[in-house]
Formats: sequence, structure tokens, C-alpha cells
Amino acid sequence: MNFYGGIEAGGTKFNCTIAADPAHILAETRIPTTTPQETLERVVAWFREASVPLRAIGIGSFGPVDPNPASPTYGYITTTPKPGWQNTDLAGTIQRALGVPTAFDTDVNAAALGEWRWGAGQGLDVVLYLTIGTGIGGGAVVHGRLLHGLIHPEMGHIRLPRDVERDPFPGVCPYHGDCFEGLCSGPALRARWGQDPATLPPDHPAWALQAHYIALALVNYICVLSPQRIILGGGVMSNSFLFPLIRREVQALLNGYIVHPDILEHIDRYIVPPALGARAGVLGAVALAQQRLASPSDHVMPRSASATAPM
Ligand code: ZN
Repeated sequence: MNFYGGIEAGGTKFNCTIAADPAHILAETRIPTTTPQETLERVVAWFREASVPLRAIGIGSFGPVDPNPASPTYGYITTTPKPGWQNTDLAGTIQRALGVPTAFDTDVNAAALGEWRWGAGQGLDVVLYLTIGTGIGGGAVVHGRLLHGLIHPEMGHIRLPRDVERDPFPGVCPYHGDCFEGLCSGPALRARWGQDPATLPPDHPAWALQAHYIALALVNYICVLSPQRIILGGGVMSNSFLFPLIRREVQALLNGYIVHPDILEHIDRYIVPPALGARAGVLGAVALAQQRLASPSDHVMPRSASATAPM
């Protein structure tokens, strides 16, 4: 059996695993995110101590990141607001220390790939995964590959119509104010309602408004990408009562225009929670490692990146 390393690099912790697939997890750990040097030293030490030969390591990282293998800063966390982590060579540091090929992408793209490979998106051609929590991000798997373009999708920053009578809250995104993330992330909920969103009861008006905005966003993604399934993860979506509200509102907003039984009749299996639960990201990183080792020209760093990196 071939084993792979998976790293879900988050702003508060690094989840690390050694696995072949979800049924064969040899080891896993959580390492707190402190300084880049201390955190990455602990990650490297954990993999070394495990002494399991790894074919490759996949990394899904908080960002913004540079996921373009042709770029000199491929594998870097770039302009993050997290203190100390700007311009951190995450993938290169791990690869040099452990000497195995490294695949790198955003945390949400890794989770999207994990859910497509082993979770709620199995067997489908076009799958959308969104995380709604501290931030909002989305990843799309299209015919078995993660969608990339200029960089990676930034689905959390789309603009949504806001009725200022119903919702005068201007949003918290430092770039856009009332973009999707600015209106619907955990910090946006806290700022709009003046309390921890975990303390808002299910009948609080916060949730109808939240479901409305999420449905508006989903309708846009449905019209653009035509996904065959939409998977909603992240801390805010652990409030499972949101799912029926969102499904109903998506149907109402589409108003019968997209004629497909998955929307008209079976929307409860069209908009779903992640099947891998909290392991979607770290197992997705394993899937990244596997996939990109299978196609080395696509996002796997060669062992001597400096010798082949285009300048
Ligand atoms: Zn924004």
C-alpha cells in the first residue's frame, strides 16, 4: 500500500495525516499555528518521527496562496493578514526538509477534491464545495480536476444584491464591504448581531437572512458552473437547520428556470453537508498528493524545483 502525507494548514492549527485513503489512516496529529519556523519544524519532525515512506505530500493551505507551478513563488502563502506568515515558502520548506514531491493548493480546493474523491461528490463530473466559517471560500472539481485559472477561484468575494432596508449592515470585508464573505462569514455574523453566532438560536432572524444570502450565492454558482452537487462545509454550516432554509430559497430564487429533477424534486440530496466531516481538508490534501503525483506536470513540484522552475 502506498502512503501519502496530508497537511491542512490553517490559521489556528495544522492538521497532519499519513494515509492511503479514508479507510487507511496510519497516523494523524494537530499542531498549533504559531510562527512559520516553529510550526513547520514541528510538522517536519512529526513526519520524520513517523518513519513511514511517503510517495508524496499534499498541502491545502490558508491563504491567499500562489498555486501556480510556473510561478517563482509557487507554494507560498503570499499576502495573508496573519502576522508573520506573509511570503512564507510553505511547500518548498516541507519538500526540502522531507525530500518527497509536494503538491500544493488552497485549503478549500483540497477539501473540494477530498469530497469529490471520497466524500459527497463521488462519481460526479462537476462538484462545488464551499466553506462558510471564519472566511468563505469555494472550490470546484470539473471532470476530476480542480478549477484553476489566473490563480484560484475566490468564490467568497462575489457581490450579492443587498436590500439595505432589510439589512443595513455594511459588511466586514476589508476589500469589498458587503461581498458574500463580508455579509455571511462568522465574523460578519458576530459584527451584525453583536454576539457570538454560536449563541444565536435557530429561530433568530439572523438565520433567515443568512440562508437568503447563501441561496443567492448558490444560484449564481449554479447558473455559472452547473454543478451536479453542492457541498456546504465550515463552522457556520454546522448549524444543520440552515440546510432546509437554503434549499427552499434556492428553489424559490431559481423559480423553475433550471429544469432538472435534482433541483426541482431532490434538492435535499443536491445541497448537502460534507461526507468526510472535519477530515475533508486533510484527506483532500492526501488526494492532492495522489492526483498530482499521477500527473507530474500538473502542480507537483519536482525534487529540485530551482533547476526546472521557469524564470
Ligand atoms: Zn470581499
